[in-house]
Amino acid sequence: MLATHLESVDPATGEVIGRFESTSPADLPRILEHARRVQEEWAAQPLRARCALLRRLRDVLYARRDEITEVITRECGKPRFEALSADLMVSLDTASYFAWHTPRLLRPETVPHHNLAVKGKSGRIVYEPCGVLGIISPWNYPMAIPMGVVIPAVAAGNAVVLKPSELTPWCGALVRELFEQAGFPADLVQVVQGGGEVGAALIEAKPDKVVFTGSVATGQRVAEACARHLIPCVLELGGKDAMIVMADADLEVASSAAVWGSFTNCGQACVSVERIYVERTVAERFIELCVAKTAKLKLGSGIDPDTEVGPMIRSAQVDRVESHLRDAVAHGARVLTGGKRRPDLGPCYFEPTVVVDVDHSMRLMHEETFGPVLAIRAVSNGEEAVRLANDSPFGLSGSVWTRDRERGRKIAARLKVGAVMINDVMSYFGICEAPHGGRGASGWGRTHSRLGLMELVQVKYVDEDRLSRWPKSWWFGYDQELGVATDRFLEVLFAPGWRRRVSSVRGALGTVFRSHRI
Ligand code: NDP
Repeated sequence: MLATHLESVDPATGEVIGRFESTSPADLPRILEHARRVQEEWAAQPLRARCALLRRLRDVLYARRDEITEVITRECGKPRFEALSADLMVSLDTASYFAWHTPRLLRPETVPHHNLAVKGKSGRIVYEPCGVLGIISPWNYPMAIPMGVVIPAVAAGNAVVLKPSELTPWCGALVRELFEQAGFPADLVQVVQGGGEVGAALIEAKPDKVVFTGSVATGQRVAEACARHLIPCVLELGGKDAMIVMADADLEVASSAAVWGSFTNCGQACVSVERIYVERTVAERFIELCVAKTAKLKLGSGIDPDTEVGPMIRSAQVDRVESHLRDAVAHGARVLTGGKRRPDLGPCYFEPTVVVDVDHSMRLMHEETFGPVLAIRAVSNGEEAVRLANDSPFGLSGSVWTRDRERGRKIAARLKVGAVMINDVMSYFGICEAPHGGRGASGWGRTHSRLGLMELVQVKYVDEDRLSRWPKSWWFGYDQELGVATDRFLEVLFAPGWRRRVSSVRGALGTVFRSHRI
């Protein structure tokens, strides 16, 4: 029997901190049907009125920021600073960005026609809402990830049924509450609570599009279910992001970035730095710096303002990190700092860990670890670094570190990923204008930015004929004369050499001035 309640558990202590009613999968068809009715009215509102409500949402988020960050910290374990800077700030900025820019981004576009044959027509591209979107999100950024899709979705005129992770039901419930408080129509953003079975039932209820963020294994199930109903989907899946450190990089700065990029959110980010390739001539110094900086990090409860690394989300997640490390050590890797569970602090703590002497035979280097591990491998040169960085089924993002801008750009161009940062890590995720999404096992489609918004609309081409009383030359009434005139017309358009083109004009006019028998 399915549980009727979901428990929100504090990963720092293992304590239950809240209970939320779960949604019965059988209710999903009714929920979708209701969403369709709400969406029709919402889409009929002027775009500017919809955007004005996004400004109210931003104000509500801002006014309730203390409470929201506390819920994120308690339910997800991350340090309060990260709840504020990553989850809350990204949500606020997304609301602000789409409130101001959606009217421009969705403005109908005139389409000039280059071909003489269709000069009598004017074309426009207009953007219409998809309808009802099913949004399925993970637990690691329980506010920033759903908000990053729900906000542009409603701005574009869609209704949303959101399925948050069963590990973060409190944050999920907050999303719905915040939209209602901001004055959006009741049930424009519905939140369904539960495990994978509720996510599966959401797809079976046939939303118009699915935006899924989560693991590769679940993403494959989602893609299969969507394919059965021919529902389009966006898949934001896992990553195994590489950081390439060239010998001319500022090692002080690069090592701080490596440590932050590997341990922020306890390494539980799709764009975490999971692999580092550093040029051999500077590897020793770079490793020394990484180890010293890692050893200084304060591990503890996210509620403590001095904490830099909190607990992992669940003990099972810690098991996975341990098994990756065990496998790496069995194949010759060396742990230089960390590497241990900390049951003295709570059930889900694991020390920030630096590992060296790693190679691609180890799970640590080809599967997503999703935990606080910084794995460093020395390489001979940039060429080898690029080859190893691309030797992965994933292709989400990556970074390159060098003082030589041109070299940085050349390496960036060769990485097979959705985003590359030169001399920074991860932070592009918080830039509203930057598209987010991957290649290969990291999924398809984009979120954030203009391209993410385009995923949430239907594109319609509208053609208006300026010569509405003029039958078209390509309509029926085919005969020898029309064939010859059309051949002249092709000469006008495509014959090599201007003389030939000009001499065919007269004959081509027969395509325009013709009598239609039908
Ligand atoms: P999961 O794949 O386990 O879950 C993601 C969501 O899918 C959850 O809401 C989950 O519900 C739901 N779900 C589970 N089974 C099904 C199903 N059969 N049909 C529909 N929905 C289902 O991922 P995690 O929550 O563990 O998140 C971590 C993963 O997410 C990592 O791999 C990480 O890299 C990836 N991720 C990717 C990002 C990106 O933008 N590319 C960003 C952040 C994370 P429930 O949790 O209740 O089981």
